[in-house]
Amino acid sequence: MNIILFGPPGAGKGTQANNIVNNFNLHKVSAGDLLRDEIENNTDIGDKIKNILEQGLLVPDEIINDLILKILSNKKYFNRLIFDGYPRNLAQVENLDSKLKKYNQKISCALSLNVDKESIVKRISGRQTCTRCGLIFNKYFNPSTKKNHSCDFKFLIKRLDDNNKTIINRFDTYLKKTLPIINFYKKQNLLHQINGMKKIDQIYEEIQAIITSLEA
Ligand code: AMP
Repeated sequence: MNIILFGPPGAGKGTQANNIVNNFNLHKVSAGDLLRDEIENNTDIGDKIKNILEQGLLVPDEIINDLILKILSNKKYFNRLIFDGYPRNLAQVENLDSKLKKYNQKISCALSLNVDKESIVKRISGRQTCTRCGLIFNKYFNPSTKKNHSCDFKFLIKRLDDNNKTIINRFDTYLKKTLPIINFYKKQNLLHQINGMKKIDQIYEEIQAIITSLEA
């Protein structure tokens, strides 16, 4: 099955995608991670998009569509993808829809994590990502400890675009461009709205129940 995770930046998509990957035989595709890898590896694409990410704007569709296609067309991941941060606008929905058809796949469900703007700002200011294992923590609400994280603390970083100015842009871009496309999945009865303000474990229990019911 392929799953899409929707939600504003900081809603917990990455954290929940990691939880899902640990329990189901699925592969996470984080659009943001794919783009950050390009920047880190100093590729031509990375040079083009660095500024855009720093401002919290969307990169051109053809760039992200091409990166996604490489994964979607890979037989290794056939029908077992979790999309985190893609699609983010109508053109990307249309691209994803046509590429899924071309490669004989479909979306099984779309999960929308709903969190208000005030909480997002608080969450983003404390977010830390482990560059070694990819786990995501929050300094205030879900800190990395010896129990929940085996990597050295030196691998924990704060993302450059996780600052107060950029976060407002990213939240507004979500409201303007991404929220409207959720309707596409609602109309197909694929959408599940989830209260993203609950505790991480409670949210995951809800997600797990939805995915398990799809498998039955
Ligand atoms: P994220 O890690 O999902 O918060 O994404 C970080 C940044 O990467 C966003 O603020 C955008 O600049 C860019 N980005 C991520 N996904 C997309 C996408 N699907 N389309 C365009 N830009 C994206």
